[in-house]
Amino acid sequence: MALAFYNTLTGKKETFESLEPRVVRMYNCGPTVYNRAHIGNFRAYLFADTLRRWLECSGFEVRQVMNITDVGHLLDDADDGEDKIEAQAKREKRDPWEISRGHTETFMKDLAALGCEPAFVYPKASEHIPEMLEMIDGLVAKGFAYQVGEDVYFEVKKFPRYGRLSGNTVDSLAAGSRIEVREEKRHPADFALWKSDAHHIMKWESRYGQHGFPGWHIECSAMARKHLGDKIDIHTGGEDNIFPHHESEIAQSECFTGQPFATFWMHTKFLQVDGGKMSKSLGNVYSIDDIRAKGFEPRHLRFCLLRGHYRQPLNFTWPILAESKAALENLDDLAARLRRAQGGQGAAASADDGLEEVADAMDEFRAAMDDDLNTPRAIAALMKLRTHAIEERLGSMAAAQGLKFLENTANKVLGCIRVAEETLDDEIESAIAARQDARKRRDFKESDRIRDELLAQGIVLEDTPKGVIWKRKS
Ligand code: AMP
Ligand code: ZN
Repeated sequence: MALAFYNTLTGKKETFESLEPRVVRMYNCGPTVYNRAHIGNFRAYLFADTLRRWLECSGFEVRQVMNITDVGHLLDDADDGEDKIEAQAKREKRDPWEISRGHTETFMKDLAALGCEPAFVYPKASEHIPEMLEMIDGLVAKGFAYQVGEDVYFEVKKFPRYGRLSGNTVDSLAAGSRIEVREEKRHPADFALWKSDAHHIMKWESRYGQHGFPGWHIECSAMARKHLGDKIDIHTGGEDNIFPHHESEIAQSECFTGQPFATFWMHTKFLQVDGGKMSKSLGNVYSIDDIRAKGFEPRHLRFCLLRGHYRQPLNFTWPILAESKAALENLDDLAARLRRAQGGQGAAASADDGLEEVADAMDEFRAAMDDDLNTPRAIAALMKLRTHAIEERLGSMAAAQGLKFLENTANKVLGCIRVAEETLDDEIESAIAARQDARKRRDFKESDRIRDELLAQGIVLEDTPKGVIWKRKS
């Protein structure tokens, strides 16, 4: 089956073809760095990572760009309200630049902890002001945008396709139900490309005035163009980005370049927590640190999020995360069983027994991923393979093939299964023996020292009635 994705722009699943053979240009709307990203945000970023990984598994080179919004994203996502980062800076009585720097660093660490592959580039909005102004000036010159005082607005009526992505046509928006009407706008749905505010801390001089800053939408249009060119293959975001953000990006980019902007628009459904919207008052806006504090590893969260299809609702609770951990450990166990069966242990009598079962699992995994990244179906194919392994239906050759597939394909995209052989490091073994010796001598100072030294290397010892066992700290 051919690789196919659901395209929000057409409302259909479509066969994926890239503009340039074997190369994919992909832009992911990234975080607004005014607070720590929560597990809901990570559903969107993890989707982008999964998409990138599956495209790579399918033989494409992926130029992945994820922006960092460090200025211009207003509290109500439209033209009014305070800048999210400046508002946070005021609350904390800190410099907005310091706030965005700190959260950007944490974001990068969280992404890495979740096992997301680094993007090609993470452009910052504040470092692309000339590129944004180039587009704004061009849109004004072409008559798609107009200046009011020191502000510049995009005129939606000049772009007849406005509303194609979200269904919010210019006429339906005229009712002004969702958008507050500002006097100076020619149409209620016109949106700001450039805004002026003398009190804004992060501001730039331009031909429109002394104290300006960009609108959130133009940032992504300009950064995508700078790093990927006028036309791109895929643009992603969470479902809330469809309108007004992505609808407006399309309008700006296509009016400026005169060409279609992105071929595929893909959106992740929101993650719910405890069956509803996350909220500070409920105390369930969880970060990766909250996941760790409850004794889970980030890879458990990764798997938990991958167990739901990105366009389906997904609920997070602590018991669901515990279930995901157990299910992921079953896949770790699959790797261990395949490794043993490859060496003949727990294998079927004949080496080529189970070849068909393994081929079926591989086909089903690939077909599921090709079908709009159906991760839950792909995971189910691996679970079925585990049943075959448990029932010792796989011969050594079949097990070797299965293991190769798990390492080189399945885990290349899922990115959270422990497939590597745990090697009992000689050093660790001798340190454990030395500690046992010290304990026999009742030299507890020395035995504690050895235990702490191992702990510093990430090795946790556990004394059990059967002797000492060790594991890697999560
Ligand atoms: P923000 O920092 O609010 O701009 O959000 C960053 C990204 O996370 C955007 O792509 C949002 O669509 C996405 N997002 C926010 N909340 C959730 C959620 N609960 N589930 C999935 N994605 C979300
Ligand atoms: Zn964006």
